[in-house]
Amino acid sequence: MTELRTLKVALLGCGNVGAQVARILIDDAGTLAPRTGARLELVGIAVRNLDAEREVDLPRDLFTTDAETLVKDADLVIELMGGIEPARSLILSAIQNGASVVTGNKALLAADGPALYEEADKAGVELSYEAAVAGAIPILRPIRDSLSGDRITRVLGIVNGTTNFILDQMDSTGAQFADALAEAQRLGYAEADPTADVEGHDAAAKAAILASLSFHTRFDLEHVYCEGITRVSAADMAAAKEAGFVIKLLAIAEKIGNGDGSEGVSVRVHPTLLPREHPLAAVRGAFNAVFVEAENAGELMFYGQGAGGTPTASAVLGDLVSAARRIVLGGPGRIESTTGHVPALPIDAATTSYYIGLDVADQPGVLAKIAQLFAEHGVSIEIMRQTIHRDADSNVESAELRIVTHRASEAALAATVEAVKGLDVINSVTSVLRVEGA
Ligand code: NAP
Repeated sequence: MTELRTLKVALLGCGNVGAQVARILIDDAGTLAPRTGARLELVGIAVRNLDAEREVDLPRDLFTTDAETLVKDADLVIELMGGIEPARSLILSAIQNGASVVTGNKALLAADGPALYEEADKAGVELSYEAAVAGAIPILRPIRDSLSGDRITRVLGIVNGTTNFILDQMDSTGAQFADALAEAQRLGYAEADPTADVEGHDAAAKAAILASLSFHTRFDLEHVYCEGITRVSAADMAAAKEAGFVIKLLAIAEKIGNGDGSEGVSVRVHPTLLPREHPLAAVRGAFNAVFVEAENAGELMFYGQGAGGTPTASAVLGDLVSAARRIVLGGPGRIESTTGHVPALPIDAATTSYYIGLDVADQPGVLAKIAQLFAEHGVSIEIMRQTIHRDADSNVESAELRIVTHRASEAALAATVEAVKGLDVINSVTSVLRVEGA
């Protein structure tokens, strides 16, 4: 039997994910070797603090604070430090030294991915990042490889577990956003500073990656329209529920015709009403799922754990074995297809249905006035429901109007809402939410 060669693996970071990757590399070395065609030897782990307690018991002599030296003598580098620097410089240094790199760093890829992919292409090495989107769920490889003979038309993803947990709490218990967030923080699903999650920034970074692979064009954060969930109220949730919808924070990448034969891609993140029977509506708690529509394959759904040290380590190991196998077999690095050249479209070009909540005066003729105004702006109404409220103290009646439109452009909807605000019978516009999958 021929002796398997040994490939040196350097690990940068030993936190939630890195510690589990180190554990699997050491404990499962015997099963990984025949699958890879090489022994994967963990030669060092770079951290900030050599004395920190680790979740996993690992040989102390593997640890170093000298990440720069570590990456220079490795065949494969796994970056699980997070943040922009020094992760970016270390990845570049590894690539320039001929190492293939595996990372889970969506923030870095969204900020500077194109430059890193280009360097990897030039050096003929692989830069893989399955763990950067939806944790354990194999979604990037299916989009890039399995669907490479098809044409993807639309991707809808629940790619942030924290916001899905919060919205699910609000939906199932009637809680307000602030209370659901506090519960998520208590249970460890949300960080003390939840901004990146609740403002949609984390989902936007993942949307840019999903859009880039789906449409063979490099998109980055500046192409992504982003709206978080902080303004979703318990009243919105209740109204959505009553109308047969659930509210989810979706990352959406879809191809849109411009009406003149040309096409563009709309990449956006926003709270979205989904019919309760849509497969994504069944994604509860902190789970993630990505729903892909392709011309030939039709509808596909990928579901699983979007975070957590061990689940995410699974995605990292998959990339590592695949990159190592390529080193063993030889041949050029995998080149990311960027031949799509589709422009990113501004949010105004997106078309969806809308849910609009209005607080209106309870007077005759109000409904007709509103319906006429929508028609004048070319936005057609699918459902209009009115509920009358009487204030117990003042005995004044007001009406709540809930409207679901047919598909309309953002621009037409925005103009309609502005015009509605100017009507004397409108007390306030209580919510404007986009609807998908209806
Ligand atoms: P983490 O728990 O914060 O761990 C970060 C590790 O990197 C720590 O071991 C830290 O060292 C080390 N580190 C940070 N800066 C360093 C520096 N300048 N020099 C040397 N070492 C440094 O992070 P994580 O949750 O494992 O996440 C790692 C990456 O995976 C991030 O990019 C994250 O976005 C991505 N990701 C995470 C998850 C998840 O569920 N956690 C899911 C998908 C993707 P010390 O321990 O000494 O401080």
